[in-house]
Amino acid sequence: MSLMWSVKVVGLGVVAFSLSLELLGWLFGHLRHKRTLNKVLFFPSEVACVEHLFSPNSARACFCPLPHGVETSFSRLLCHILSATSSLDLCVFSFSNMDLSRAVLLLHKKAVTIRVLSDKDYSAITGSQIGILRKAGICVRFDVDSAYMHHKFAVVDGRLLITGSLNWTLTAVQSNLENILITEEAELVQPFIKEFHRLWVLNDPARFYKNLISDDEH
Ligand SMILES: [Zn+2]
Repeated sequence: MSLMWSVKVVGLGVVAFSLSLELLGWLFGHLRHKRTLNKVLFFPSEVACVEHLFSPNSARACFCPLPHGVETSFSRLLCHILSATSSLDLCVFSFSNMDLSRAVLLLHKKAVTIRVLSDKDYSAITGSQIGILRKAGICVRFDVDSAYMHHKFAVVDGRLLITGSLNWTLTAVQSNLENILITEEAELVQPFIKEFHRLWVLNDPARFYKNLISDDEH
């Protein structure tokens, strides 16, 4: 075999190898992009029964008067919240929606680690679910700052961000024009995880009382 022939074969091999690498890279990038969840939901949501989401294995039919088998913005939102298997970090200004409260309590029962940050004044109003969550043993912290804790976001399993204008109330779900963005994009999820952690530490009651004691000592 001539030297020229060998150079040609090696050259072709190198070209084929780099093309396959490029193809693999494209394929992986494409698959990764396809797997990343990005969804937008708008409210008000249609009103429909969500009972099946709480007990998906139950064979019993629900006989409530609401429409059944209808997928709505609210049922999609609930589904994503109920998909939590390890943690749910929730930062919400107002929380009075019974179905969302039921979902959080169900996750708590399933040993999902739940942390809730909320507004202190708003959690005292009639219908707020914050007290019920606390009574169930869920860790709740309130903003100690004078600024409103006006966020409405949740991070599921440290991978899925749910954020938008929607407060966790029945009015917001059924009557208001609201939006929710649900995404697994790490570039968006990570800053929210960081902000939750910052607020969680900042509003640690132990830290607050320690500051009060050290203020007294001076
Ligand atoms: Zn029903």
